[in-house]
Amino acid sequence: MTIPRVDLPADARLETLAVREGLPPSPWGENSEALFVTSSFVHPDAATAARRFANEEEAFVYGRFSNPTVTMMERRLAALEGTEACIGTASGMAAILMLVLGLLKSGDHVVCSQSVFGTTIRLFTDFARFGLETTFVPQADVDAWRRAMRPNTKLLFAETPSNPLTEVCDIAALAEIAHAGGAQLVVDNCFCSPALQRPVSLGADIVMHSGTKYLDGQGRVVAGALCGRDEVVAQKFVPVMRTMGLTLSPFNAWVVLKGMETLAIRMRAQSERAFALAQWLEAQPGVERVYHPSLPSHPQHRLAMAQQGGVGGAVVSFVVNGGQGGREAAFAVIDATRVCSITTNLGDTKTTISHPASTSHGRLTEEQRQAAGIVQGMVRLAVGLEDLEDLKADLSRGLAILKR
Ligand SMILES: *Cc1c(COP(=O)(O)O)cnc(C)c1O
Repeated sequence: MTIPRVDLPADARLETLAVREGLPPSPWGENSEALFVTSSFVHPDAATAARRFANEEEAFVYGRFSNPTVTMMERRLAALEGTEACIGTASGMAAILMLVLGLLKSGDHVVCSQSVFGTTIRLFTDFARFGLETTFVPQADVDAWRRAMRPNTKLLFAETPSNPLTEVCDIAALAEIAHAGGAQLVVDNCFCSPALQRPVSLGADIVMHSGTKYLDGQGRVVAGALCGRDEVVAQKFVPVMRTMGLTLSPFNAWVVLKGMETLAIRMRAQSERAFALAQWLEAQPGVERVYHPSLPSHPQHRLAMAQQGGVGGAVVSFVVNGGQGGREAAFAVIDATRVCSITTNLGDTKTTISHPASTSHGRLTEEQRQAAGIVQGMVRLAVGLEDLEDLKADLSRGLAILKR
């Protein structure tokens, strides 16, 4: 026996796969995917159980490493990313941990962008204790990535666009560098999601996700995943899942599974609002600088548009007048909002507003922050689905105070 597949046309497109890929329904014929809340699965007889435990027969066995709801989420995400396989994990960080545990050993070397999610930097840095060395390079500087390569480099890790500056990496160029050096390229595709950007189609080997963000899309659960080739998932990641239990709960998988059904329309609608807000912010007298990949003023506008299907994503950052001395002004803009949620999460239908220098990037030294371009006057928006005019009015209140 193998676990059956949904009968879909081979050329089904992304928005169809987002709604339809998963598992065939159970004998009860449910139309919406079921949430299987069970820790183990029953076998018809002892010999079948033995075959299943020996991996000679594919079946659901035990909740630490297999569950039908989790499998549905994995198959759907793999279909969207255009990879053969996917493995769900307890969180985005658990996905990166699985990457390290599954692919790397003491003595190996990693090249990583210095602009990735702060906790990702900490994870790679912490693994120095186990003999893993990581070189951090400027996100957009392709030559710096190339120069950082060593004979023992096994992995390149990029996140594009980055948070909060929306800096973009050239995925195809990094894939070429990785493969020339016998290494693999991993892309954290959290900010674009497969609705806008499919890293594997540009040469990346593995796609990493925090399902917590746009895949769930409504700020409900924590989840993660790795997408890649069948043999890598089956031989490198599944054994880690079995022995180390970085398991995604069926409930969280179910929320992400259902969230993906609206992913493409959410990404488009939220990105449109973000772009409109970015253009509006650029024209505001209280604002010094705006960062969004759709703006022609973005340093990598053309690369971003080519790589992200012409869509900039839903994150916009801006610097209020005063730049580095603008902390009070940034706080005033944030505190004057009544619609936006003051939180660092993103990927929600609710617009979130945050002050990167004192929250998500608060653990960096002032020097590191300035090197990263994150000044005290910076405000980050992760735009949701509220009415655009209400969002403008929400930001106007604070910006009006600054003008006086
Ligand atoms: C949130 C986030 C992560 C970590 O994901 P968790 O689900 O919070 O563990 C990794 N990368 C990026 C870009 C993120 O935004």
